[in-house]
Amino acid sequence: MVTFPQAGGCLCGDLRFELSENPISVYACHCTDCQKETGSAFVVSATVRSEAFEWTTGAPETWHVTLPDGRIKGSEYCPRCTSKLGGQSRFEGVRSVDTGAFDDTSWLTPPVHIWTRSAQPWIRFPEGALLYDQSPPDEDLGAIIRAWRHP
Ligand SMILES: [Zn+2]
Ligand SMILES: [Zn+2]
Repeated sequence: MVTFPQAGGCLCGDLRFELSENPISVYACHCTDCQKETGSAFVVSATVRSEAFEWTTGAPETWHVTLPDGRIKGSEYCPRCTSKLGGQSRFEGVRSVDTGAFDDTSWLTPPVHIWTRSAQPWIRFPEGALLYDQSPPDEDLGAIIRAWRHP
């Protein structure tokens, strides 16, 4: 059973944060932007209420990227060690936290995988996971939230 707050931070320790409540959703994104941005195969993101998230040490820098649909997305980095820790969301009042930044990642298994069409060919999706070949449609947001709360 996970308890809150859960703390995390960047690689060098200049940035530290605390999350005071359970995330709204947790998902893995296999899009090529996430692959490029991290130099890795995918990103696991927790969507959290902005009010439940607090920087306890340091302040991140924000890198803005223009998405294919014209939206501008901000990603937050440690200015010293360049760890990416999450960023803005297109939804009001929420933000994302990259789950690898938490000190304890054992409770953050993503029940949802998006942009599976650009996933690395060696990825095997867990049985029962919700899979989307691109971004999920807005009408599926309820199912994505329930997938995390009732795994
Ligand atoms: Zn750092
Ligand atoms: Zn992505």
